[in-house]
Amino acid sequence: MIPGSETMLEARDIRLSFGDFVALDGVSLSFRRGGVTGIVGPNGAGKSTLFNVLGGQVRPQGGAVIYAGQDVSHLPAHRRARRGLTRTFQISRELGALTVLENLMLAFPRQPGEAVLPIFFRKTAVRQAEEEAIEHARALLERVNLWRLADAPAKTLSGGQKKLLELCRALMLEPGFVLLDEPAAGVNPVLVGEIADFIRTLQGEGMSFGIVEHNMDMIAALCDPIHVLAEGRVLTSGTFAEISANAQVTDAYLGGVA
Ligand code: ADP
Ligand code: MG
Repeated sequence: MIPGSETMLEARDIRLSFGDFVALDGVSLSFRRGGVTGIVGPNGAGKSTLFNVLGGQVRPQGGAVIYAGQDVSHLPAHRRARRGLTRTFQISRELGALTVLENLMLAFPRQPGEAVLPIFFRKTAVRQAEEEAIEHARALLERVNLWRLADAPAKTLSGGQKKLLELCRALMLEPGFVLLDEPAAGVNPVLVGEIADFIRTLQGEGMSFGIVEHNMDMIAALCDPIHVLAEGRVLTSGTFAEISANAQVTDAYLGGVA
């Protein structure tokens, strides 16, 4: 961990079981403010489950989630998102039928005052908010070179373009922290590089990230610190060089494959 660095998001002693199966067995770890923190580990280690707990999609049986110094454990996902803590979601089959631009517009929060304003002002306010949302979406899509595909159905995008769209959808909420679950999975190497560059640019603008990824080139290029999860526990944490040199980490991966 970089000395003097501040924690933005923290999991404290998270415990979660599915029936008799213990998926998260007292997980405590933190994500750096302004940083890109990595989570690695073999399949079934509990990485996605941990992100579901942090994002508020799943309630753990024990432990707490602290975001920006506040306990958000009791907040549902949409209220965490309103505070700036969000995550990407895979584009579902239903959303795949919508265009790229429509996918971003759906991510835009409902407009304030829609129900209370008189009809004339309501229309004006809604139209204005919608125009702002389109401008915001356009700016994002231009940054990732997808604006030219704004009217294409999302399902026609390549694997990497879909990942960029998922990220842009999360960015519509102007978050402070984004959780990315396997942003490089099924993506060709050129686009993996573009996704990594975009994440680094956003980091430079002050955004913080947590990334689960099996692509070690991406982890090595972006993440510090990196937490290694195995069988629902934190095995070790450190820089890429530190975890690579740790024999326990190699064993965990071999154990996961066997
Ligand atoms: P990872 O993302 O590290 O590959 P997951 O967090 O998806 O692992 O899953 C961790 C373990 O919890 C796996 O053994 C998985 O089968 C189990 N699991 C995940 N979600 C559920 C669920 N909804 N019901 C039962 N078991 C689950
Ligand atoms: Mg997973």
